[in-house]
This record gives sequence, C-alpha cells and structure tokens, in this order.
Amino acid sequence: LEEGLFCIGCGAKMQVTDKEAAGFLPLSALKKQLASDELLCQRCFRLRHYNEIQPVELTDDDFAELLHQVSETKALIVYVLDLFDFSGSTIPGLPRFVGKDNPILVVANKVDLLPKSLKTHKLRAWINGQLKEQGISTVGVELISAAHPQNLDDVLEKIDDLRAGRDVYVVGTTNVGKSTLINQIIKSKTGVQELITTSRFPGTTLDQIAIPLDDGKSLIDTPGIIKKDQYAHWVTDKDLKYVLPKAEIKARTYQLNPDQTLFFGGLARFDLVTGPHDGSKAAVTAYFENNLKIHRTKREGATDFYEKHRGELLAPAPKDADVKMAKYEFKINEKMDLVYAGLGFVTLPAGIHIQAFAPAGVGVFLRKAMI
Ligand code: GDP
Repeated sequence: LEEGLFCIGCGAKMQVTDKEAAGFLPLSALKKQLASDELLCQRCFRLRHYNEIQPVELTDDDFAELLHQVSETKALIVYVLDLFDFSGSTIPGLPRFVGKDNPILVVANKVDLLPKSLKTHKLRAWINGQLKEQGISTVGVELISAAHPQNLDDVLEKIDDLRAGRDVYVVGTTNVGKSTLINQIIKSKTGVQELITTSRFPGTTLDQIAIPLDDGKSLIDTPGIIKKDQYAHWVTDKDLKYVLPKAEIKARTYQLNPDQTLFFGGLARFDLVTGPHDGSKAAVTAYFENNLKIHRTKREGATDFYEKHRGELLAPAPKDADVKMAKYEFKINEKMDLVYAGLGFVTLPAGIHIQAFAPAGVGVFLRKAMI
C-alpha cells in the first residue's frame, strides 16, 4: 500500500482505513484481490459485479478541482437538487465552476415527498424563482423521484437532446439522491456492465464513474459534495430516518396562541412570540418526516423543558450532547416558509413574530412559501 496500489476502475489510490473516502477496500478483500490480480476498490467492485454505485465523499477543495476540470470541457451539466432540502442541496457558485458555456439542466429530485395536492405548474414556478434568486440560468427543469422513477425515459431523452454530442456530468451534494438516480440509469441501460468491466472508462480524475453513451461520449457521475450545514450530519445513522423522509410528507397544522412552542423531536424548536394583530390564533403548518414527533408546550419554561426531556420525550436529539442551540428571530410580513435546512419547514402566515432554535451551524432562514 505504501508504494501505492491503484484501482483499475477509477484510478484512486487504494486504502484500507477510510470507508467514506475514495479507493477504500477492507484489508481482507484487498488480500484476496492481490492473489487474483484484479485490483478494484470496494466502490468499483460493487459497480462491476452488482451494477450498483456507492457514494463517496469529497472535500470542498477536491470538489472545486473536479468542477474546474468540468469547466474546461464541453459538457451538459445535470444538476441534481433535493426538493425537500432545496437550499441545503444547492452548490454555491456552480455556474462559475462549470463554465459559462456549459448548459445546466436541473433535475429536481424527491418530488414524491411533496403533497400530491401541490400543482406541478406551481411547483415549477417556485423552483424557477429560487434558481433565479441564486443566479442560475438553466436549459430546463425536470421533476423526478429517483427512488420511484416513472418518467426516467423522458428525462434521459431530454438529457440526450440537450447534450447535443457532448459528455454529461451529473453533480449534486450528498443525500440529494444522485446515487439512486445513477443506479436507475445504469439499470435502464443495457450492455453497460460489459463496457465497464473492460475498464474502457476509468475515471480521469479521482473516482468518476462513466456510463457509456451511444456516440462514444459518457455520462459521468461526480462525487457528492458534503455540506456541513445539512441536518443529516447532526444525527446518528440510526436517527437519520427522522431526518430523511421516505414517503409523502403529511402536513401538520397547529393553531397557536402567542407564547406557545413547538419542538420538532429534540432537533429544533419554534416559538410564536406574538400572533396576528386581530388576536386570532396563528395557523402554522409543519412539513417534517412523518415519524418525527412534534411536541407543543408553553414558551415559558421551554428551555428547561428541553434540557429535561431531550433525547426522551423530545427525540431524537443531536448526536453531540454539547451542541449549542442558536436562536433566530423573524417578523413575518407575508406568507413564508421558515426552513430548518435539511430537517423540514414550517409555513407561516403574515403578521406574526417568531423565534426559531436549531444547532448552531444548521441553516435557519425564511423563503417564499413553497406550498
Ligand atoms: P446521494 O448522496 O446524492 O448519492 O444520495 P442517495 O442516492 O444515497 O440518497 C440519499 C437518501 O435519499 C437515501 O435515503 C435515499 O433512499 C433517498 N432518496 C433518493 N432518491 C429519492 C426519491 O426520489 N424520493 C425519496 N423519497 N427519497 C429518495
């Protein structure tokens, strides 16, 4: 290993210590492979033998380098975003990285999580508004559920049209469902396994997986970029199920009086400070993973209540017991979503004053209401 052994699939330097990083292979498997002279990292092994890709994580610097490479080639960029964690899944500065001449097709994933009642044209308008705010111009927006794709062929056809003889780079942050999407694409293509096993498509850079297209070009899967402010990084693997929803999210509406508090498990808190001017209750609607318990209590004493019941009545709690909860304060002038990046959001009516709490480092902000 010291001298450097390289994976014949992706070219990454082999290592036996970091499961999440490129070139990983358990030591026992490495020994077996050395005897058989087919040296593949675990990720490429799975790709080759099971047609299944596994995510690998890269640092921001590696990722910037990778995107920079993309900017020097002519390519169609497929930018995968998570509709449930839209801002958490955006890649800041993407257009600059990928070069001004490379068109961007947005694939907005996990549409299955949103209420069925949400009209497609309304959702599209909302997405376009968000992209515009971020200064991203696209050649199209495709809505998809990579986990249960019904329109995969349409999306692939669209990609094929738009790439016009170019390579395709698929980019996204971790947890947007990029691996799920790529796996579906691999599944839907015939003969891919054969081409990959001949290793005609080794990654040119660290750990890219290239799926051959008809004209000798490739669809290239780039590693997911890690965004530290995603909620997924704050909970244990076991508790991820409360953070990453699997099924349509059920809206939960609360009629709140001033000085009432909602706890979202032990992960976040919402306080209504003052309600509408006419003295009516404030109707707030929460969109979180359906199994995440929402607990309503009095604002007075809520901090002590949290300390006392954290991890029990208020579960799950952040995995780091010493985590500091940061406080945010907003006056709401029009219908808005309060977003706890990657955990969920609360739709708020105009004319109220609120506070929000979440682990320091998690993004908490307002956006135009989605639903
Ligand atoms: P990656 O890090 O971008 O490669 O993301 P993964 O493909 O590993 O997916 C992250 C999580 O999102 C997993 O728990 C997936 O099961 C889930 N996921 C992926 N696509 C979808 C989808 O279309 N709908 C839903 N509900 N979940 C999805």
